[in-house]
Order: sequence, then C-alpha cells, then structure tokens
Amino acid sequence: MVDPKDVAEALCEVGRRVWQRGFVASNDGNFSFRLSEDRVLCTPTLISKGFMKPEDMVIVDLDGNHVAGSRKGTSEVRIHLFIYRNRPDVHSVVHVHPPHATAFTVAKRDLPKCVLQEVDLFIGEIPMAPYETTGTWEFARTIAPWVHHHDCFLLTNHGAVAIGQDPFDAYYKMETLDQYCRILLLAGQLGDWQTINMKGIEELLKLKQRLGIADKRSVDCGPCSPGVVPGGPEVVFPPYVPHPGPIEDSPKLPPRLQYRTNSGKQNAPPKERRADDPEVRAVIEEVVRRMLGRA
Ligand SMILES: [Zn+2]
Repeated sequence: MVDPKDVAEALCEVGRRVWQRGFVASNDGNFSFRLSEDRVLCTPTLISKGFMKPEDMVIVDLDGNHVAGSRKGTSEVRIHLFIYRNRPDVHSVVHVHPPHATAFTVAKRDLPKCVLQEVDLFIGEIPMAPYETTGTWEFARTIAPWVHHHDCFLLTNHGAVAIGQDPFDAYYKMETLDQYCRILLLAGQLGDWQTINMKGIEELLKLKQRLGIADKRSVDCGPCSPGVVPGGPEVVFPPYVPHPGPIEDSPKLPPRLQYRTNSGKQNAPPKERRADDPEVRAVIEEVVRRMLGRA
C-alpha cells in the first residue's frame, strides 16, 4: 500500500525540482496525489513549492472540501479533482507555469506534433485549453474535450498541467513538455522547426503500440491523413472528436497502479480498495493525525 508519508515527501521533492528549474515563481503551482477513491493529498496555497515540508500538505475530498491539514488548500485543486473524476487511471497531477510552455499559451500558438520522438512517444498530442479565471470549476472544465485522451495540457495565458501514475511520472512529463517548448523556440530562431518524416512517424506509432502506450492517432486515424509532406513543415491531422460520454462521471477505480518512490524502488500493487475499507480508513486517519501534528 502507498505510504502517505512517502507521497507527501514525493510532493516536496517535486516542489524542489520545479522551483529549481524555474517552473514556478513566488507561491505558484500545485501538485496532488489521489490517496483513495475520495481523498486527495495536495500542496497548500500561499507557500513556495521549493520549500515545503510533508506536514504542510492538505487532504481534500473530490468536491474540494478540506478534510485534513493545518494549512489552507488551493482553489486550483479543482482542475486536479476534475481530472481524478474523469481519469481513474491517473493518480497524480502537477500544475505549474513553466516559462517556455507558458510562452506558447501567451502567444496562443498551438504546439506542433511529430517534431521530437520523446514527446510523441511519452506524451503525444498536447492540446491548449481556452482561458478561464483560475480556481473556478469553469476553469477546471476547460480541459474537458481532451481530458480522457491526453496527459499534458496547456492552459491559455496561464501555464500547463501534466498527469501521471505518481508525482514523478507527472513531473517528468512536465519537464519534457517545457524542454520541448524551449527547443521549439530555439528552432524558431534558426528559421522554424521541421517535422519527422512520414516513415519515422509510422515507426514511432508502431513502437508506441508495442510499448502499450495509447495514441489516438493509431486508433482514430492514420498518422498522415491528409497533409503530411515528408520532411515538410507541418503534419495535419483530422480534427479531434471530443469524448462522447458523460464528462463528470466518477467511475469505479481500478486497482491502484504501482507507485514509484523517489529511490526508484516500486511498491507491489495492492488489491483494489474502497474508501470504506477499514485499511483505507486507517491510512486516512493516520494522515490526519500527522497533518494535525499528533503523530
Ligand atoms: Zn496556475
């Protein structure tokens, strides 16, 4: 079972890394981890993410109600909760304002596809959600058209969100995203970026299939219909069709995925648990005790 203390420490470590890389200024950014079906451990508001301690963390339910922790939670947690409600496979969310990625959102310039292998392989398409005032449910819902099929989102005139199986998985996607945007900006100074050729794209999509990484292009459409010019400036895909199902259903969670600790070792995947499971309840109570400093 995931140790909440490990998770709290992982969120602190992600905080140190995003601060060191300049992905946040002042008290910007927030990260979270889903502890159980209705409990989410998240970073508090009004604190530099580079200097957090495990006991600073807050626990909220999936409606955003404060459950435990002496600090105040962040209103931006709503976009995390919206993701958890719609993606049972996701256990962690990282939201920051990385300068290179945020520059694309300020310029309202969509990110190209099929330019760098690692981006297409491990992230896939990165959509840009429309602008909304931060912290509202309307803000959270701006990613609705893409939430079921994408792992990184740009937020217009704001920043970026990455999701994953644990805090480091989400954080590494954010690193890749900002690195990608930085390279695109540098390539722009050299003229412009060029896409991978047709054969390379087809091989990447096949590799993704072999690795078991979903990519809507290998399901919904071919890699090149229509508009790919091998080595040409841009690959044009058919327009994205939003997920037809209900957006805010909270489906039954699958068994928790393996959680990778900071040391790299993996905990065995525990059996499926519900919030009313006595063991889950014990974990929540333990976290509450620690949050309140009674441990
Ligand atoms: Zn933000």
